[in-house]
Amino acid sequence: MQQTEARAGDEGARLGALRDVGLLDAEPDPALERLTKLAGELLGVPISLISLVDAGRQYFAGATGLSAPVQRETPLSHSCCRHVVERRAPLVVDDCRESSLLADNLAVRDFGVMAYAGMPLTLSGGETLGAFCAIDKVPHQWSEREVHLLEELTALAVDVLEARRAAGQDLRDRLTGLAGRALFGELVTRAVARAVRGERACAVVAFGLDGFKLVNDALGHAAGDELLRAVAARVSSTLRSGDAACRLAGDEFLVLCDALEDDAQGAAVVARLHSALTHAPFEVEGHAVPVSATVGVATATTVVPADELIDAAVDALVRRKGGVSHEAGRPDPQRRARATRRLRLKHALAGVEERDELALVYQPLVDLREGRLVGFEALLRWTHPELGAVRPDEFIPVAERTGAIVPIGEWVLERAVRDLAAWRATPDGGELTMSVNIAPNQLRSATLPARVGAVCAANDVPADALTLEITERVLLDDRPAYARGMAELQQLGVRVALDDFGTGYSALSYLSRFPLDVLKIDRGFVAGLDVQPRARALLEAITAMAAALGLRTVGEGIETARQLTELAASGCDIGQGYHLARPLPAQEIEPLLGQVWTTGGDDEGAPG
Ligand code: C2E
Ligand code: MG
Ligand code: MG
Repeated sequence: MQQTEARAGDEGARLGALRDVGLLDAEPDPALERLTKLAGELLGVPISLISLVDAGRQYFAGATGLSAPVQRETPLSHSCCRHVVERRAPLVVDDCRESSLLADNLAVRDFGVMAYAGMPLTLSGGETLGAFCAIDKVPHQWSEREVHLLEELTALAVDVLEARRAAGQDLRDRLTGLAGRALFGELVTRAVARAVRGERACAVVAFGLDGFKLVNDALGHAAGDELLRAVAARVSSTLRSGDAACRLAGDEFLVLCDALEDDAQGAAVVARLHSALTHAPFEVEGHAVPVSATVGVATATTVVPADELIDAAVDALVRRKGGVSHEAGRPDPQRRARATRRLRLKHALAGVEERDELALVYQPLVDLREGRLVGFEALLRWTHPELGAVRPDEFIPVAERTGAIVPIGEWVLERAVRDLAAWRATPDGGELTMSVNIAPNQLRSATLPARVGAVCAANDVPADALTLEITERVLLDDRPAYARGMAELQQLGVRVALDDFGTGYSALSYLSRFPLDVLKIDRGFVAGLDVQPRARALLEAITAMAAALGLRTVGEGIETARQLTELAASGCDIGQGYHLARPLPAQEIEPLLGQVWTTGGDDEGAPG
């Protein structure tokens, strides 16, 4: 009896932890999705799942290989993972028909599960939330290495779950239970990416309650709080799946409208929201309090930063309110300052390439096996006459949105190829290459391939000495113009690299779908080599997969000797980072040309 109660208590704690990670019925977490893809590809199986075992069902927080439309949940009768949770131990079955545990499982009958390997997803508090599994539809003799890889991937998935649990506990507004600003921003980022991918729009609606201050003054703060909670509840009731709401400050709220087909649908969402607030007065401490609201809307149809979309919605609200925001006249100074600076940068960037304010620095790329210098990445620097040095992370997104990046990008290309030509003419420099970052709107321009060809020809540099780095956003957008541009560039012989791999949303499947030559692994992974014991396994997995797809790999952001040796040993081809060399102005490059670095890449065979 006592034991049963204890078990029930354990199950309660387990389900509580499951709620805290905030993944049930939510958008799939991109990191978990990616881990299942990796598992599928590394173990060579068609299906991999991160199954959260809930009361009465299992929910897939990450899934690869399910047929579309992806069904995210099944009853427990169809769950092999539930046994992993019950046993709190791995379950590895080569042929389910011969397993006393799984032979009668309906997943075997209905989904054709023939071989199953599942690892428990156990948090540091001891709660097993579900299982990370690999499934084959034919009998499969799981090798020791496969089981080990699955264990490592499971440990990474547990890291994600732990982080989400920790974050989930303080991501919500205490008063209303709505998403807090940080969580909301994250949801907006994902919704924008999703909307753009699906050729839809998404919108942020900002609204403020008119006369809220009067309620507070007349009825007291407790009543004000009650009103805010009631407003939050009504707003929540209008949300569709994928939508979200947030309390920004005081009486101001934000609503995210996911996947809008057209303007009419957007207008309908706003109307529904407005009517939910105004159709009947709120009951607050026995008083009927009618509410009216002012609304501002901002819509995105291309990838824009969440902050910007939110700021635009709040700006629209402020304009309609007549210039005041946040409880009658408390403007958000940080937001204002950000907007003012952006505006200033925007104006200053027009024609900047003609004003001698731009410069390039070059960061060496080093072959990790031989320590040879193989080339450089050109990185742009901007010194504004009054603002001083502006970081590329700050001004490039602005230049991308205004289109200023197109002439700036031409300037970069010409300067970089010209400098490369000079270094290739030196005795040690004949084979050097140059990587240049290309913004999505440059790639969309129909004249880019011709320009690139002309610049290479004018400087007598072969096209295959040039690599153009694109970001995942280009792949996300999935527009035919990009694929065409990339194909034309490659016909010229130019290489195409995917930059910052691992930071965004691109799934591994994209890599085979797009014509890529090089994968640049984001420095987040490389930094992990110092702190996470499993980072090495993940890197090995990525480089192995890249090699299988015929891609060269570059590890970015190497800052320590240990990162360098681990990266080299994990099979990565090329390294880049402060530990090897910082980005340098052109005039400091020549002395480096014959340099050989010690990389530890051949630590298993080389003498010494
Ligand atoms: P990216 O292409 O991923 O470039 C690598 C960035 O990492 C550079 O920052 C570089 O200075 C930095 N980095 C290199 N080694 C290390 C390291 O060991 N540790 C750390 N913490 N950082 C390291 P940077 O120069 O600030 O450039 C930032 C981003 O701006 C670039 O990221 C690229 O996306 C963009 N960018 C730079 N130049 C251009 C350009 O000419 N055109 C376009 N479209 N984008 C550019
Ligand atoms: Mg780059
Ligand atoms: Mg990068």
